[in-house]
Amino acid sequence: MEEPIRRRQLVSLIAPMYNEEEVIGVFFSTIDSTLKDVDVDYEIICVNDGSTDSTLDILKSYIEQNNRIKIIDLSRNHGKELALTAGLDYASGDAAIPIDCDLQDPPEVIIEMIKKWQEGYQVVLAKRIDRTSDSWLKRWTSSLFYKLIDNISDIHIPANVGDFRLLDRVALEVIKTYRERTRFMKGLFASLGFKETTIEYIRAPRAAGETKWNYWKLYKLALEGIISLTSLPLKIWSYIGAGVAISGFIYGVYLIVKTLVFGVDSPGYASLMVVLLFMSGLILLCLGVIGEYLSRLFVEIKARPLYIVMETVGFDESSNDS
Ligand code: UDP
Ligand code: MG
Repeated sequence: MEEPIRRRQLVSLIAPMYNEEEVIGVFFSTIDSTLKDVDVDYEIICVNDGSTDSTLDILKSYIEQNNRIKIIDLSRNHGKELALTAGLDYASGDAAIPIDCDLQDPPEVIIEMIKKWQEGYQVVLAKRIDRTSDSWLKRWTSSLFYKLIDNISDIHIPANVGDFRLLDRVALEVIKTYRERTRFMKGLFASLGFKETTIEYIRAPRAAGETKWNYWKLYKLALEGIISLTSLPLKIWSYIGAGVAISGFIYGVYLIVKTLVFGVDSPGYASLMVVLLFMSGLILLCLGVIGEYLSRLFVEIKARPLYIVMETVGFDESSNDS
């Protein structure tokens, strides 16, 4: 197949930003100095996720000096996952790379990703080999989470791989068709398939500013992950229920026989209370699980837009919308 004049390939870097005024400067300068010799064009799509500090003003001041920068300003804080989704929707590149703007995803890795992509890989994962910059509790809980997901769902989420990865246009187009609101990006990404390879890197500590995650948010993200990937927690109750019913039946038979043979002995308060409390706990737990799924169903069925864009800066008119 003859190729006419080859257009330089375009890579879209997608950086969600929430109150990141302290790092934006270093982020842009590091990206620029790292990618100056790379043989593709690139754009930096900055998604301002409802920052309450001067992130947006700083972004706008940079756009005048750097025409690679594009801004999507969301109307309020939507959370990283949706901010990233907005960025992916607006990306016009032949490949997209979600990247944290705190430089924890080292820009040097992008060069390697692009190399792999040009070799023909459609998805290039970046795996952290050293997480000493995270606390042991974070590392331990996250490894526990991945093991759990591996066991209860069909999808294998590679451990220690974050959102930082390269997606070819083909993969990107598939991701764009996923419109669920409660989304767990890593899970969506992992469900894609395609010709995939992994490169390894060392995760740096944050360049400046503070992490936006706390354990409560991480717990909610983990829950989102489990619920969006598998309905096992919902189905398991029929088995638990069957188990409890069978043991209840056996215990019932035992009680009847015992009463017939040995007569009635009335003290039984303790065992009654234990069974009552345990069973009510189990029932409430089961209702809670149903509630988790039901509430998501409720949110999804309304099919509201995933994010609200207040303003975009730097895109051509031909850009797509949500
Ligand atoms: N972020 C966002 N919206 C949020 C929280 C975070 O867009 O509600 C962005 C944040 O600006 C950063 C990236 O997501 O670019 C990762 O956040 P952070 O560094 O706080 O997370 P960590 O690296 O600690 O997991
Ligand atoms: Mg970070």
